[in-house]
Amino acid sequence: ENASGIDYAAELNEQQYAAVSSRPGASLVIAGAGSGKTRTLTYRVAYLLDRGVDPRNILLLTFTNKASREMLERVRELISQDISDLWGGTFHSICNRILRRHADELGFTRSFSILDRDDQKALLNAVIADCKIDTQSRRFPKPDVLASIFSLMENTKESLEDILEVRYPYFEEWLDDIKRVQKGYVQKKLDVNSMDFDDLLVLTLKLLKKDEDLRELYQKKFKHVLVDEYQDTNIIQCELIDLLVAKNKSLMVVGDDAQSIYSWRGANMKNILRFQDRYPGAAVYKIETNYRSCPEILELSNAAIKANTEQIPKELRAHRVGGSMVPALIPLNDPRTQAEFVTQRILELRDEGVELEEMAILYRAHYQSMEIQMEMTTRDIPFHITSGLRFFEQAHIKDVSSFIRFAVNRQDEVSFKRMVSLLPGVGAKSADNLWKAWVAHPACRAESPPQSFSKIMMEFKVPKKSQAHWEQLCYTMDELVHSDGFAVPSEMIFSIQEGVYDDYMRGSFDNYENRKQDIEQLMTYARSYSDVLEFLAQLSLMSSVDSSPTGSKAEKDEEGVTLSSIHQAKGLEWKVVFVVWLADGMFPNGRILESEDLEMLEEERRLFYVAITRAKDELYLTYPMMNPKSYTGEILQNPSRFLDDFPSDLVEEWVVDSGW
Ligand code: ATP
Ligand code: MG
Repeated sequence: ENASGIDYAAELNEQQYAAVSSRPGASLVIAGAGSGKTRTLTYRVAYLLDRGVDPRNILLLTFTNKASREMLERVRELISQDISDLWGGTFHSICNRILRRHADELGFTRSFSILDRDDQKALLNAVIADCKIDTQSRRFPKPDVLASIFSLMENTKESLEDILEVRYPYFEEWLDDIKRVQKGYVQKKLDVNSMDFDDLLVLTLKLLKKDEDLRELYQKKFKHVLVDEYQDTNIIQCELIDLLVAKNKSLMVVGDDAQSIYSWRGANMKNILRFQDRYPGAAVYKIETNYRSCPEILELSNAAIKANTEQIPKELRAHRVGGSMVPALIPLNDPRTQAEFVTQRILELRDEGVELEEMAILYRAHYQSMEIQMEMTTRDIPFHITSGLRFFEQAHIKDVSSFIRFAVNRQDEVSFKRMVSLLPGVGAKSADNLWKAWVAHPACRAESPPQSFSKIMMEFKVPKKSQAHWEQLCYTMDELVHSDGFAVPSEMIFSIQEGVYDDYMRGSFDNYENRKQDIEQLMTYARSYSDVLEFLAQLSLMSSVDSSPTGSKAEKDEEGVTLSSIHQAKGLEWKVVFVVWLADGMFPNGRILESEDLEMLEEERRLFYVAITRAKDELYLTYPMMNPKSYTGEILQNPSRFLDDFPSDLVEEWVVDSGW
């Protein structure tokens, strides 16, 4: 009876099938790790399409764009139908898409810029200066901290007073000044036609709340809304979903309260725990079979999460049969020997035929990957990192994009200043003067870019020694705009590189050759984009932890062993998983142990649960017994207290020679 010929009942278990084939309405699938929640959601999309639902009427919200890409790819495979009209992605990318159509209603233009953390800091510094706040003689929060405070305000909807009192008591005395900065920041973003990541969500919600027609438009459009990793939604995201489905009430959310690990960013576990209160009569499906892990790993996972008090009790049974390796616990001398052990084991497994792509090394904090990165490089093992500085966050990549961003959004002060500051002899003061000259010109606020930037900008006064470079820059800007609109992104990058940037790079970086390669890579990447707005949005979204990686990110980044923070590994699976740095004070984190905050400790335990449930066949838990500190010598570390929760027969301790 299905057009696609999929035998849903055969490819799913009873509970999964019930959820997939349920009537439209509110439903919640709540189940432990590896039980097929994401699979259920994927099949649900296929099922709806099979029943004749138009792809345009489906909204699929996922935690990363990569996850959405993979799910949609899977759906395409299943039903072989064109689904390019289906909206799938992270909350941020979907909101971006909505705002690109209607931002003018909020006082922005549709070509608004998206601020990343560095841009935010630059803007905040400008605001702090405008507010004439003396940051020298007192401990006023740094822009980075302010950005976090403001973000928390947006994501939790708590007042500034409350946030300072609970999380930043030492800044309470500056409450009034912080308030002024916050107001100034909101205004400044409007002035420079830019939004930060939180704005994407908050402003979409605001827009849909205030404009009834628009709200109805999207409510009609998204007849079916599906959400993965629902346990990590925050209050804004939750409200956004509720608002979108208010009419049709066709909503399926899947999640696992035991994997809620983003409270530090405002995620609220109550969204999932209270789902039935908000949707009375919602259907609830529980899956009790785990398909991912061998029984040995699954038993350990069940034991790992047991000690948490705040959770919906779930016991998972293994679908797979036993006979695999018992998870290994390996104490090692120090971080270096830990790195040596892990890489050595990876090489052995590779010799046994395990693909590098099937292995992952997970850690709590990014810096804990340093020794391993170095060791992997020395031994020539290909790897990619999901938790650290990415390609698109590097200074030279951002320098080049600042030209394009300014060309597209002429009110973008941050990009303009970044761009002109590249010229020799142009400091903060000259940059400011140049900006003032530009703002005074009507071209700054014109709807479309000037036919010739140079005609306008060559008139500006620049320091003498910058004159020749300034002319270069002006001509380069001209090349970014053709008579019929913007040049394509790859051409823009080429012009910038040839016109100004290569010269700058040569004189400014010692690893010029590497960076030149990066720029070339950027050009290659840009070739898949013909629309500059789309290209820029992609760049911005890509440098955020939450939305990255997006779009058609280079294949290459997926090759080799995965090095990842646990947060970034959510929802994924590998044959072999190493969890490193399992020492008390490292994981759980020392600050949390000191604070004796039970809720935080439970979140750490959930994080640990997420880590070990990524493994299908083999799990290695390691920790360094000694931790060298640069000033205090070495300190002795205890194994993580989470390891104490294990009955001794569930793990096997390996004794490894320090001569590894
Ligand atoms: P997590 O909580 O980590 O996000 P999940 O509940 O979303 O996990 P999935 O990633 O959907 O679980 O599934 C885990 C693995 O089990 C996948 O490899 C999936 O293909 C497989 N799987 C799930 N259900 C079934 C099934 N009914 N038959 C065969 N394989 C299944
Ligand atoms: Mg999943």
